Amino acid sequence: MFHAQVLTLFPDFFTSALSCSIPARAIKSNLVEVEYLQIRDFSTDKHHTVDDAPYGGGPGMLMKPEPVVAAIRQARTRQPDTHVVMLSPAGVPFAQAKALEYANMSSITLLCGRYEGFDERISQYVDEQLSLGDYVLSGGEPAALCVLDAVIRLLPGVLGSADSAVLDSFTEEGILDWPHYTRPEVFEGEAVPDVLLSGNHEKINVWRKQQAIERSRLRSSLIKKASSF
Ligand code: SAM
Repeated sequence: MFHAQVLTLFPDFFTSALSCSIPARAIKSNLVEVEYLQIRDFSTDKHHTVDDAPYGGGPGMLMKPEPVVAAIRQARTRQPDTHVVMLSPAGVPFAQAKALEYANMSSITLLCGRYEGFDERISQYVDEQLSLGDYVLSGGEPAALCVLDAVIRLLPGVLGSADSAVLDSFTEEGILDWPHYTRPEVFEGEAVPDVLLSGNHEKINVWRKQQAIERSRLRSSLIKKASSF
């Protein structure tokens, strides 16, 4: 069974999302176990403080090293092989290849920040820093949830058809998925491409491949164009 641990101040954040659809089925079938460690429980002072003001001044508060590092140590004791990931805008970008890498591990631990982020010294206690993208979230929880969802659907036995994950965008050849259509055949004047109704599977496969390549090219050229401004 794959083990995921989440170090967070807001374990309730995950309850609803992971009790729906694919992750819920995976948890129920014992293909994955998700455990939460409340970082506040590792604070030893009377008020269970987890944050403090930054040295050098400036707005906001930072997550203090003592409770966070104690939570990381506890996570490593519970799952000695766990790979500890700090969610941070400064981390390496999350992508499908990274989800696959995690899905091939036995355990991951996701460390969620809040406030203005972590005391920098905490980064020495994690294995990796991971970013969901070049934007700032209010906390690491939405990022951790995306990672959990992407990893869980890659675990063996989670998806009904073995092909579903292989055919997803970014997976087999690192490119986007092709466009999909279902009934009705014509929707508000827009018809399903003829080739999909042809019954000729060779032609359909060629068309799908071309579409996937074209979409991926279009997106990468859009990215290049956008970055030239
Ligand atoms: N002051 C930080 C900065 O400007 O980089 C932002 C801190 S953010 C408000 C609080 C926490 O949310 C972070 O410690 C991190 O755990 C999480 N977070 C925010 N944006 C993220 C992103 N793009 N990827 C991963 N985690 C993110």
